[in-house]
Amino acid sequence: MARILIVEDNALNIKLFCDLLAAHGHRTEAVTDSREALDAGRAFGPDLIITDIQLPHISGIELMEMIRADDKLKSVPIMAVTAYSASGDDERIRAAGAQAYVSKPISVARFVQTVEALLAQPAVTETGAAADAETPDEDGSPDPGLSPG
Ligand code: MN
Repeated sequence: MARILIVEDNALNIKLFCDLLAAHGHRTEAVTDSREALDAGRAFGPDLIITDIQLPHISGIELMEMIRADDKLKSVPIMAVTAYSASGDDERIRAAGAQAYVSKPISVARFVQTVEALLAQPAVTETGAAADAETPDEDGSPDPGLSPG
């Protein structure tokens, strides 16, 4: 079980993301107004933040930069969700602080796979992104040693 904060202004997408993540055993909290995202994140203590890019008031790009500058949230991995994907978006989104992004309309399998990959990898370091979330796992078997809890 992980705690996942969702920042998304579209109610249907919020329902879809929350239902999907709940079905995989995760606890979610959603905010529709990105101006409330930092406070909600500090209070909720998420293991992962999923943010839309096209948001009113504070864009997903700006929000990711704010999260990366926030003492409490800077090490939390971010997955961006974007309705369009133009050339250069990937670099721009990653430069702002996302470890991964998925395009809308989402592929359910890819959405869940990307979430689980981000939750499985080490926390973001001070110097930037953690390992690429899309790196395939060489050994799919569960680690018999340490349990992350
Ligand atoms: Mn939006």
